[in-house]
Amino acid sequence: MANRQRACDRCGTVYTYKRSTSRYCGSSCRALGPATATVTTLPGTREAPSPARTGTATYDAAHAELTAAGRAETLLGVALLALAARIDNSRAETGSSLATLTKQLEATRAAALADADAAADPVDELRRIRQEKARAAAG
Ligand SMILES: [Zn+2]
Repeated sequence: MANRQRACDRCGTVYTYKRSTSRYCGSSCRALGPATATVTTLPGTREAPSPARTGTATYDAAHAELTAAGRAETLLGVALLALAARIDNSRAETGSSLATLTKQLEATRAAALADADAAADPVDELRRIRQEKARAAAG
């Protein structure tokens, strides 16, 4: 069977879905819901009222980084996306709480992407293997 692909309703990333009812690339996007305001809410379902969005630049950037690192589905990845969405929607936040959010975002981003760069870097990987061999040879 050919791969079935669609664009995520939240971030637009093209992904392969397993179920035909699938609408999002992952649980993080599903939790955040559609990016557009044209939401058709099914009768009986309750969704938190979504505040007017000031943009999705922070979320999009965080999502791109996490996806590139394969971390969008991790606990910290989801937390980072939630923070990013809050910053994007932070019109109502005071200056000081926005600063706090930004600090949290930075810390969460560092944790969520920890080791991702090293793992993706073949030079670093080679260096690590060489060091381990040297250590083993030294006994
Ligand atoms: Zn998505």
